Amino acid sequence: MARKITVDGVSKQYESPDGTVQALSDVSITVPAGEFCCLVGPSGCGKTTLLRMIAGLDTPTRGAIRLDGEPVTEPGLDRGMVFQEYALFPWRTVRENIRFGLERPACDCRDCAAQVEELVELVGLSGFENSYPSALSGGMKQRVGIARALAVDPEILLMDEPFGSVDARTRDRLHGELLDIWAETQQTVVFVTHDIDEAVTLGDRVLVMDSDPGTVQARIPIDCPRPRERTSPAFVDQVARIRAKLGDPSIEDSGDTTTQK
Ligand code: ADP
Repeated sequence: MARKITVDGVSKQYESPDGTVQALSDVSITVPAGEFCCLVGPSGCGKTTLLRMIAGLDTPTRGAIRLDGEPVTEPGLDRGMVFQEYALFPWRTVRENIRFGLERPACDCRDCAAQVEELVELVGLSGFENSYPSALSGGMKQRVGIARALAVDPEILLMDEPFGSVDARTRDRLHGELLDIWAETQQTVVFVTHDIDEAVTLGDRVLVMDSDPGTVQARIPIDCPRPRERTSPAFVDQVARIRAKLGDPSIEDSGDTTTQK
């Protein structure tokens, strides 16, 4: 199950001791149900702000965010979030951390226990159920974070640079695993990254953001079949196109669709 996300004319200002920060200015996007949508852009362009507002952890200064037409007013079990820094409880085991994502974490009924075991298996952590986070690699910790976000079977998965702290080889493996999970669960995914290769590897579509203030300046469909080969001409062309949009003058922009939401 999946839900459509509509971001309609959203602006966000923060008040700080140094004055007002315009984090986002009049951003409008539509993420169709079931789409894997990547947000790329330089640091400070408002990617995390946008994700947090979709999650209901923050509110727009202007405009509205809707899920299947219903305004977002607070966090909900229909949205799972995965953070870069894992956000695991160090004093809980893998199994207990994942259990914490359930709607009723304290429930020890057979169904809940079975659900946790299924999630452990889904993210490839069988055998590590009783390990503590300190004994896990970065990639394994992030698998726990993903399992915990999936525990309530959310219709929307929001991921904020989830693989930013893992090594390149592990990241490649996690990409494959995430795409397998997505193929199975059919959720709507919004995935924030500043890594263009990662966005083109994963996304059905890449939204390119700009900063000062944060806006969406291009919407680029990725028309390469999966699994994607990073050396294929189509992949290389998409990466070049996005890099050009991000303002690398050494690369020619070959043109794309920028007008749709
Ligand atoms: P990104 O995720 O693209 O790096 P962010 O969404 O984190 O960007 O930040 C966008 C802008 O908003 C930045 O200028 C950042 O400093 C500012 N900002 C983010 N959160 C806050 C906050 N809580 N208070 C003040 N400014 C903030």
